[in-house]
Amino acid sequence: MDEIFVRLINFPYGVGGTTVTDNDGDYNVYINARTSYNQQKETLNHELSHISHDHFYDGKSVEEDESEAESEEDQKVDPSLLTRVHWGGYVPCPHHKK
Ligand SMILES: [Zn+2]
Repeated sequence: MDEIFVRLINFPYGVGGTTVTDNDGDYNVYINARTSYNQQKETLNHELSHISHDHFYDGKSVEEDESEAESEEDQKVDPSLLTRVHWGGYVPCPHHKK
């Protein structure tokens, strides 16, 4: 509950990442492995900003949530949030056997 799992995955070009909530009430953040290190950090900050603002449960519009996350993603992430972050490693694309 309320844990944050961060994983790298190969998304199509142009996708930064996304966050999916699961039935345990945990957050699964997927970052596109095909973007640069700096872009990956930015995406992580962006997704953590959504989580800290409760955007997955607040019932507001996507546009409202996005502008709120974007206005604060350059700021420091709440340290208490980082204690809930777990590194889940790299998720290989299921279409490739390697
Ligand atoms: Zn967003």
